[in-house]
Amino acid sequence: MEKNEALLQIKHLFGERATDASFERALYARDLAPVPALLVDPLFRTVPDLVARPADAGEVSAVLKLASAAGIPVTPRAGASTVYFNTVPARGGIVLDLNLLRGVVELDEAKMTVTVRAATTWGELEHYLNARGLAPQSVPSSAPSASIGGWFTMMGYGIGSVKYGSLLSQVRAAEVVLPDGEIRNLTLGSDPPLDWFAASEGTLGVVTGLQIVIRRNNPMSHYLLSSPDLGEIAGVLAAVKDAGVTPYNLHFTDDACVRAMHRQGIAPDGVSGGCLLAIDYEGAPEELAAAQQTVESLVAVNSSVSLLPPEAALEEWDERYKSLKLKRSGPSELGGEVWLPVRSLLSYLADIEQLARKLRLGLCTYGHVASPERAIVMTMFFADETKVFDYIIGLSLVKKIHDVGYRHGGYPYGVGLWNTPYLGRIFTKGQLAALRARKKRLDPAGILNPGKLYGWPPLLNPLFFAVGMKCLAGIGSLRRGGDR
Ligand SMILES: Cc1cc2nc3c(=O)[nH]c(=O)nc-3n(C[C@H](O)[C@H](O)[C@H](O)COP(=O)(O)OP(=O)(O)OC[C@H]3O[C@@H](n4cnc5c(N)ncnc54)[C@H](O)[C@@H]3O)c2cc1C
Repeated sequence: MEKNEALLQIKHLFGERATDASFERALYARDLAPVPALLVDPLFRTVPDLVARPADAGEVSAVLKLASAAGIPVTPRAGASTVYFNTVPARGGIVLDLNLLRGVVELDEAKMTVTVRAATTWGELEHYLNARGLAPQSVPSSAPSASIGGWFTMMGYGIGSVKYGSLLSQVRAAEVVLPDGEIRNLTLGSDPPLDWFAASEGTLGVVTGLQIVIRRNNPMSHYLLSSPDLGEIAGVLAAVKDAGVTPYNLHFTDDACVRAMHRQGIAPDGVSGGCLLAIDYEGAPEELAAAQQTVESLVAVNSSVSLLPPEAALEEWDERYKSLKLKRSGPSELGGEVWLPVRSLLSYLADIEQLARKLRLGLCTYGHVASPERAIVMTMFFADETKVFDYIIGLSLVKKIHDVGYRHGGYPYGVGLWNTPYLGRIFTKGQLAALRARKKRLDPAGILNPGKLYGWPPLLNPLFFAVGMKCLAGIGSLRRGGDR
């Protein structure tokens, strides 16, 4: 089938829910991260030819059947709260805006599961469940805009994961439309199995519904600890994580970040520096009582650590979905998000401090403990996207942050387009070969979200990328008058 014929048929089928108007299509050529056109336009075709908004799995299937017959790339997009061009087309084609796939399909309180359509946001699901005394087991800290399907097809760790595990471990079944248009109900035991689609970043199939395990909306308790001594805070973090009562959420903020918050007037009252550790528990009253004992005894034996007032701890929890609040000092933020071994946190932060001194740059770090072994750590600095040259030089510093993470056993959290040069750090050769085999089997024509996850575009080849970033870093250093 001819490409234009297929696009025309989709337009006809979708009526007002499809658009090829250039103004509307241009809105889909970006995500949350501002990237200068100078870097994007010569390399990628980010403006789609058509945007279609399917209302159900049948319509997703119709688009995929026509697209696969005509070899047209299809990029799924939901909340678009990712930053690596995950939802931005690399080769034009169709953007499948999934945002009409919303709402709860079925709540089964006996089995403690809920079935939801994929573009329902975590905020919407949380609101729905909380009204019934229930809650999701975990949520991303982008819950107000991130969708259930989007988080499943990304890494799926966030608030609550340290206690309840990854989203994949909570999903019982998924409705998925495969690249050839077949609609399937998948479980861990099906062929293909459900877990292939977790972290597949919209490259293997379009998830249209998910059945996930939920929890009771238990009472919570919140603690906010402050200390000028990073070592003691890291020690408390490790002890709390491994104590008898597992916290629901463990979030840390380093001294540079706390100082930046203080300058903006958003640090807790009376706190102008030092590190912060937020510890949140949920559970039965006995669990909360045991948790209180754990925290109080750790504060008692760590002389530099103080417990901030309960109101400050509650406020920190209430602000859990505002992790970008520091951006207002920007206008932009650049940074590296690293999936870091928790045991390396202290040495990573020490190296980051050294890097900040060398570059004479404020590097702020915060993060969530995502599992007993790993934390999602964000190290960022302020940038100005309107100063294109400086901004591009800033991108070389993002690589330096990733290099520090890598030296400490970490790698980028998520791939999309911009992290493809790091594929060799994220996956072993065997893992990458297995991923490519899945892709070849399910999407032999490579129509779903092409150019991402399985390989790098020519100019993002790891070697070119490393040399290019080194050159940019050198220019940056010269402009700063040499690094220390
Ligand atoms: C402030 C902030 C906080 C964040 N906190 C977290 C966090 O705690 N944990 C975390 O993991 N991430 C976090 N993120 C990143 C991002 O928000 C999450 O990955 C989120 O779950 C993505 O959901 P989305 O609906 O926005 O997906 P999108 O950005 O729309 O899509 C993400 C990827 O999934 C694909 N996709 C989306 N929906 C579907 C579907 N139904 N079927 C198939 N493919 C699909 C897309 O093609 C794309 O590749 C954060 C981002 C921000 C800005």
